[in-house]
Amino acid sequence: MKCFECGGEMINKNDGIVFYKKDKSPVYFEDIPLNECVQCGEKYIDGHVTEKISNILKADKIESERHLVIPIISMAA
Ligand SMILES: [Zn+2]
Repeated sequence: MKCFECGGEMINKNDGIVFYKKDKSPVYFEDIPLNECVQCGEKYIDGHVTEKISNILKADKIESERHLVIPIISMAA
């Protein structure tokens, strides 16, 4: 498989990505199996994996025993 953006080589890896629910709240998915372009860093996730992710994001309440605490930096002048 070649990168659709730049034609670069793709490598298989597991990576963590933040996705957002409809209410804009973030959910961090870890160990997502994906292909990443070594040249431009474009990530491609298989259809069945994105489907699973969107089903989880659609749920009213996400059950997880682990949560991220992230810093907030205001860039207001
Ligand atoms: Zn690329």
